[in-house]
This record gives sequence, C-alpha cells and structure tokens, in this order.
Amino acid sequence: MKYIAPASVEEAVSILAGGAAQAYAGATDFLPQLQMGRPKPEQAVDLKRIDRLVDLRLEGDTWVIGAAVPAVRLTEEEQLAAELPGLVESAALIGSDQIQSRASLGGNLCNASPAADSVPAMVVDEGRAVIAGPGGMRTVPVASVVTGPGQTSLAEGEFVVEFEFDRPPARTSDAYLRFIPRTEMDIAVVGAGVRLSLDDSGRCTAAAVALGAVAPTVVRVPDAEEALAGRALTEEVLAKAAAASEAACNPIDDKRGTKEYRRRVAGVLTVRALKLAAARAADR
Ligand SMILES: Cc1cc2nc3c(=O)[nH]c(=O)nc-3n(C[C@H](O)[C@H](O)[C@H](O)COP(=O)(O)OP(=O)(O)OC[C@H]3O[C@@H](n4cnc5c(N)ncnc54)[C@H](O)[C@@H]3O)c2cc1C
Repeated sequence: MKYIAPASVEEAVSILAGGAAQAYAGATDFLPQLQMGRPKPEQAVDLKRIDRLVDLRLEGDTWVIGAAVPAVRLTEEEQLAAELPGLVESAALIGSDQIQSRASLGGNLCNASPAADSVPAMVVDEGRAVIAGPGGMRTVPVASVVTGPGQTSLAEGEFVVEFEFDRPPARTSDAYLRFIPRTEMDIAVVGAGVRLSLDDSGRCTAAAVALGAVAPTVVRVPDAEEALAGRALTEEVLAKAAAASEAACNPIDDKRGTKEYRRRVAGVLTVRALKLAAARAADR
C-alpha cells in the first residue's frame, strides 16, 4: 500500500478518481480497520496535508470546519464552543485525549457508525457537508450522507472537504448527551442531540431532536419537535418529547443494552438534553 499526501483538493480528487485509493484523516477508524484486513486500498490518501481540510474559520455568519480538523481544535475555539456548545461537546466525547488529537468530524461521519457521537449534533445544527469529487463540488445536508452502517451516499472518488454551520440566532442553543456504561472511552448506548429556540417568555419557538445508536442511521424525531414548538417547556411537554423519542427508536439488542433499555434511555436523554439546551438558549 502506498501513502500519498496530496496538497490540494484538486490533487486529492485526481488521485481518488482511480478507485483503488481511500482517503483518511485521523485514521482512528481507518488504521484499526486496515489492521483487521478491511479495506485493502492500493493507496492511502492522507487528507490532513490539504490546508482547506484542516482549516476552522468563521466566514460571515457561517462556521466552516475542515473535514480533517481534529476534535481537540473544536474544543479550543472558544467562540465556536459558545455558539455551538452541543456540537463541540459531541466532538469532545470522542475517545481519549490521544484520539481527539487525531479524530475528525469528516471521519466520524464517513465511517458511518450508527453510534458516531458528532452526527446527531451536526444534524440538529443543520450542518452542510461540502463534497469534492470527479463531478466537481456539491453541498448536501449532513443528514443525507450516512445511508446505513458503514454506508454513505458519497459516490466513488468523492470526499468531504468541510462542514458549514450557520451561526445560531439569539436565544437558540444546542446540547449533546450520550449514555455509556462507563465514564469514558466507550461506544454510545444512546446519543441525543437537540437544538432549541426560545422567545422572550421562555416558550420554545423551534426545536430539533436527533438520536444516535438507536437505528441504522441517526433518527430525527419530528413528533418530539412538534410537541415542543410553540409551547413552554413544562414537565408535561417534555414527557411528550420523551415519549416521541422512545417511539422513534428502532434499536438492536446487544451487550450494551436491550431494545427496551435503549428506548427508555433515549427518552431520558432527550429530556436532559432539552433542559440543558434551554438553559443555554436562555443565556444567549
Ligand atoms: C480508542 C477509540 C475510541 C473511540 N471513541 C469514540 C467515541 O467515543 N465516539 C465516536 O463517535 N467514535 C469513537 N471512536 C471512533 C473514531 O475515533 C471516530 O469515528 C473519529 O471521529 C474518526 O475520525 P478520523 O479522522 O480518525 O477518521 P479516519 O479513521 O481517518 O476515517 C474513518 C472513515 O472515514 C473515511 N473518511 C475520513 N475522512 C473522510 C473525508 N473527509 N471524506 C470522506 N471519507 C472520509 C475513511 O475512508 C474511513 O473509512 C473511537 C476510536 C478509537 C480507536
């Protein structure tokens, strides 16, 4: 296998167009997979030498986060953490300090694990993925990239260049919580990403709820969003959102939890994340 480090998006596109090459960023998923014998690319294409892929910047009212930016850089960017705290806390949960110095949002998304921590947060923040490939550049909602475990909608030769997130308006904030059986370094039993907007009286004007690890791909919960929008966040309204999250799950039984347990945890985490996001939104 040959190591190649292109210096530009265009160079990477021409290398990846051949089909025998695979792009990677932090390699925290890619390397263990290579060691297990799958995949077996002829060329491993290191995306981290491309400036645009490791750039994190505010462009007008849009945060632009390179697909290969390591998670730790997100946590160091104070303004980003203040404006999109849920997104940053999802990145800060990935693995250990060592893993976070390598792991990227692009890799977390494109590895397409149902339990990937940053994806529910990116989905509720309505992130967009800028994709490069033989057909040129295109921008799609993050929510449309993962199509199943280990499967994405990227065409052959395509890779994610960067993510775009609109800066949230006043009194809008997000949160991401996950449950794992130990305190760190484990895969989510359930992950819950939420985003809320409040009016001056504290009533919710808009909500987004997305769950990870409870179905083959991240699940958006429109029934919870409808139960919240236009209402004060009373215990009764929050209980409706929790019930909607439980109903939206399509989980599996495994050693981390049964289907029933996962459903229950999804409801509990939805309420906790909503309370956290509401407190943050009230402060903005
Ligand atoms: C010890 C350990 C703990 C972990 N803990 C967690 C955790 O708590 N939560 C969690 O969600 N994950 C966890 N992971 C998994 C992993 O760290 C994350 O998924 C990480 O975000 C992957 O990013 P990466 O840059 O290392 O991806 P890579 O390994 O470089 O790539 C992963 C996959 O995505 C593809 N890819 C990478 N970048 C792009 C791109 N820009 N465009 C298209 N395809 C691309 C690669 O071809 C590969 O198939 C853990 C892994 C380890 C080893």
